[in-house]
Amino acid sequence: SSNGSDEEERTLGIIKPDGISGNYTERIKQVILESGFEISKEMVIQLDEENAANFYAEHSSKSFFTNLIRYMTSGPVLVMVLEKEDAVARWRDLIGPTDAGKAKITHPHSIRAMCGVDLEKNCVHGSDSHQSAEREIAFFFKEAPSEDAVGKHDEL
Ligand code: ADP
Ligand code: MG
Repeated sequence: SSNGSDEEERTLGIIKPDGISGNYTERIKQVILESGFEISKEMVIQLDEENAANFYAEHSSKSFFTNLIRYMTSGPVLVMVLEKEDAVARWRDLIGPTDAGKAKITHPHSIRAMCGVDLEKNCVHGSDSHQSAEREIAFFFKEAPSEDAVGKHDEL
């Protein structure tokens, strides 16, 4: 339909290094699937400092930026494209607030309450808007050019 209410949306989810090293991957995926998301793409990647700084460019002037980059490069992450109606908002609901320590009190059933520790080590990422989601998905998953686009390139 064109009015949008029953259409799938995509968002980007990441299981951060503490989620992977804490062996939370399967539990998190189980919650994702039980909550009606489809995991349409996934990839394990070790971010380098440049990748992490580009991904979190919006936070480059923050006091926590250096620590954030160290945290996000401390081990592999699992990057996922999650699809569902209203996926961006529903995934943010499911992960809970940024501060995992507070989440344990205020949102005890959230993913961050389950596997996060504090304001930094909160074990998962979720895009904050539809626009951010599309930018973040493109950052990790470069879609292959279509046959059509390939055909338009001059041969070398
Ligand atoms: P969210 O991930 O909930 O969208 P932000 O975009 O504000 O939160 O921050 C990005 C990430 O930076 C957070 O998930 C967390 O890992 C880290 N972070 C945010 N704020 C702080 C802070 N005040 N101190 C340390 N780390 C922080
Ligand atoms: Mg954010």
